[in-house]
Amino acid sequence: MKRIITLLFIIMLSCHDNKAPVLEDQTQGIALQNEAIATSDQGNIVLVLHGGASYPTPTRNNPTRDSIIKEVMGRALIAGRDTLLKGGSSTDAVEVSIQILEDSPFFNAGKGAVFNGEGVNELDASIMEGKERKAGAVAGVKQIKNPINAARMVMDSSDNVLLVGEGAERFSKLKGATLVSNDYFFTQDSWDELVKAKKENNEKLPKSPIEKNEKFGTVGAVALDLGKNIAAGTSTGGRSNKRFGRVGDSPIIGASTYADNRYCGVSSTGWGELFIRNAVAHSVVSYVEFKNSGIQEAAQWVMYDKMKGIEGGIIALDKEGNASFPFNTPVMNRGYITLTGEPKVFIYK
Ligand code: ASP
Repeated sequence: MKRIITLLFIIMLSCHDNKAPVLEDQTQGIALQNEAIATSDQGNIVLVLHGGASYPTPTRNNPTRDSIIKEVMGRALIAGRDTLLKGGSSTDAVEVSIQILEDSPFFNAGKGAVFNGEGVNELDASIMEGKERKAGAVAGVKQIKNPINAARMVMDSSDNVLLVGEGAERFSKLKGATLVSNDYFFTQDSWDELVKAKKENNEKLPKSPIEKNEKFGTVGAVALDLGKNIAAGTSTGGRSNKRFGRVGDSPIIGASTYADNRYCGVSSTGWGELFIRNAVAHSVVSYVEFKNSGIQEAAQWVMYDKMKGIEGGIIALDKEGNASFPFNTPVMNRGYITLTGEPKVFIYK
């Protein structure tokens, strides 16, 4: 309650405006090393993850924090890979690994999600499997501990694709999801960021959400199972200080998440409204389909050409186990694992 009152006070002092112009081209100097994949691993990768694209800040990017990010993402990669080794589906692997990232307070998903402009956490998630192209998603949920579980429930146990708010909560409760009070998602980091954003709102408009030093850290995964099925998923708290009811790209099939066994699976992170408008995840798949190209070319074209000047990143994995990780910010938490290798996690370009 005290937190909400402080926030109301700050809101009174500031004028909320989420509009921001598109950045100048940021893609110069971006080289293939962004991919950071050992040549021997291409063709053998079974799971790729991202944990958000951003600009570095001293609180978020320091050796202690970096090692935590690497530890958690490494653990998520191993858990997902072990699921596949036990015969689990790519959908299982995506769900297991995203759930680990949601449970960590260091990502903007599940516990640790950012706050909307009213000091409430509203979470979004989606999942898709590439065999029948079934998909499920939830948006604007405030009480589901692991939104990725709820997205899976929508995919598996309903004939819908996207459920929102209270309806999504009622549905997933019926299906056995764990519900928590909204306070569960609180982290001091996310709160401080909201307070800072409120205070700064009267000053000049930032060039982009990332330049506001928002807590990026949306999470996503793409997996390939032993039956050559691809699945993809994404989970987020959205954008800090977002308008109540705002839904970003993460729960939108085709914007942030897409999977098609014939081509590839994709999860993305970045400025949601622009990722929706550019159908980012589906664009990668369509590029592979219509140009008959590899995923490197497809994902790089979407991120560096189609999305030129719009900040964010993409992870993609094809049916042969080739992966691509293009991004145009200085930081994107990302990693991959093969069936037998150690997890590889990267943070910087
Ligand atoms: N795409 C997310 C959103 O706009 C944010 C992010 O990826 O960091 O909701």
